[in-house]
Amino acid sequence: MVDREHKPKSFRESQPGFRWDEVDLLAYKEEGAAPFKSITRQILFQRPELGCELRYFEIDAGGYSTLERHEHVHAVMILRGSGRCLVGEDLRAVRERDLVFIPPLTWHQFRATNDEPLGFLCMVNAERDKPQLPTAVDLHELQKSPAVAAFLGGSDE
Ligand code: MN
Repeated sequence: MVDREHKPKSFRESQPGFRWDEVDLLAYKEEGAAPFKSITRQILFQRPELGCELRYFEIDAGGYSTLERHEHVHAVMILRGSGRCLVGEDLRAVRERDLVFIPPLTWHQFRATNDEPLGFLCMVNAERDKPQLPTAVDLHELQKSPAVAAFLGGSDE
């Protein structure tokens, strides 16, 4: 919920474990809304003046984000750990400080490696469309690439 009256604090200290003062640890999405595994969400900046939001997501070892696409874009910086990331048909290993851009209407998913969490900053428009989930036809199309099929199946190659 955006608080339009409350004057934001200019400084909030970081805390151990990738937490921050006055930032709640939230569920990634509503349970059952879409497939995902072991993710938390923290909203670091959310002000009407910004037009965008900066969130920190953390995927536990072996977890993954929802495979989805939408009109809005994401600007991502990996902040913790390592994992793999699907953007369209591109599959890449990612690690701390790597940058990832998710273009409009492009299937994307992040997966943590099996031995450490994957944490990333994600900048997104404040006003944005709802994510679309893949249909059976979309999944079939994506799985034509053996590497993508293995990735979606959770195999480490
Ligand atoms: Mn997304």
